Amino acid sequence: MKPIYLDYAATTPVAPRVIARMLEFLGEDAEFGNPASRSHAYGWLAEEGVETARRQVADVLHCDVREVVWTSGATESNNLAIKGAALANGRRSGHLITATTEHKAVLDCFRWLEGQGFNVTWLSPLEDGRVEPAALQQALRADTLLVSLMHANNETGVINDIAALGELCRNNGTLFHVDAAQTAGKLLLDLSQLPIDLLSISAHKFYGPKGVGALYVRRHSDVRLEPQMHGGGHERGMRSGTLASHQIAGLGEALALAAEQMNENSLRIGNLRNQLWDRLSRLPDVYLNGHPSQRLPGHLNLAFAGIDADMLISALSQVAISSGSACTSASVEPSHVLTAMGLSREHALSSVRLSLGRQTTEQQVETVAAHIESVVTSLRSR
Ligand SMILES: *Cc1c(COP(=O)(O)O)cnc(C)c1O
Repeated sequence: MKPIYLDYAATTPVAPRVIARMLEFLGEDAEFGNPASRSHAYGWLAEEGVETARRQVADVLHCDVREVVWTSGATESNNLAIKGAALANGRRSGHLITATTEHKAVLDCFRWLEGQGFNVTWLSPLEDGRVEPAALQQALRADTLLVSLMHANNETGVINDIAALGELCRNNGTLFHVDAAQTAGKLLLDLSQLPIDLLSISAHKFYGPKGVGALYVRRHSDVRLEPQMHGGGHERGMRSGTLASHQIAGLGEALALAAEQMNENSLRIGNLRNQLWDRLSRLPDVYLNGHPSQRLPGHLNLAFAGIDADMLISALSQVAISSGSACTSASVEPSHVLTAMGLSREHALSSVRLSLGRQTTEQQVETVAAHIESVVTSLRSR
């Protein structure tokens, strides 16, 4: 029997309604055409599916359909936004700002740009994981081209005040990119109100398929992006490559579904998460990492003092969880997010992330809580 899945922050299963929508674009009796084929109905019908999905995304994000660019996921969206904005207009230098708690797909873009001659300011978060607007204000310069800060952190679930951070960028005439991979479909994102120029999302974080995402690119602003993928000039020249119609249709349906159920899911999942923390907090020497309330409803990042996280995870045979982020779980380095928050290496190495989702039940929470209690107690008694 497979363990109980509590790793929804790493990825989610595709919702049945989303699978059904995707199947409409696969197979000989489906709309399998190339959306870029302009000369026949196969192409037109596939394009219609792609444009329906664009409408779905634009409706949920409160933006224009012309502001949605399809990509292969948030990694690519982040690359296109950050490298694309920095390198636009033939630029090879300038000032950029990001934070040390960002996802690797953001950090590595900035590291690469540093190597190309750009000057990067790396903001440290508060101990609760949030990036302070005052710290950004201090770092902004007259020549700052771009700021990239995430909406919610993938390891801790801690939510940044992107409205306040974006306002500072706008007042400074600086582009603002937000990695919203963890929040799209989970928190309200009203791009008609928020001062955001670029925003990354990924379908597999909101019960859509893996390998597809989108980048919101604000129109009527100074945003110019140097394409990172050259070819047929798809997506208004910003991202070439045949559109993955079935994946895109799945993303649109998944985001629409997530928006429909957002309030009810947040409430239910948040209650289960609180119930799990309520049980586990009774164990001695267990610490909650990150801000206690400015946090996504499904996240629980905990340190079990004196216990090695990898040992704990392998002893917890009945539950599937991760230490740090899935992207770094191949190495034994402590989480860069937790150490950036000022937590010790030892504390970070005894931390695990539990993330709940749509399929999580009260019964599962009870089973997991009892299992963790007994494993932690037995590991500590050795
Ligand atoms: C998952 C995730 C990514 C990477 O998204 P992919 O679509 O898997 O490439 C980037 N940033 C954050 C915050 C994430 O959670």
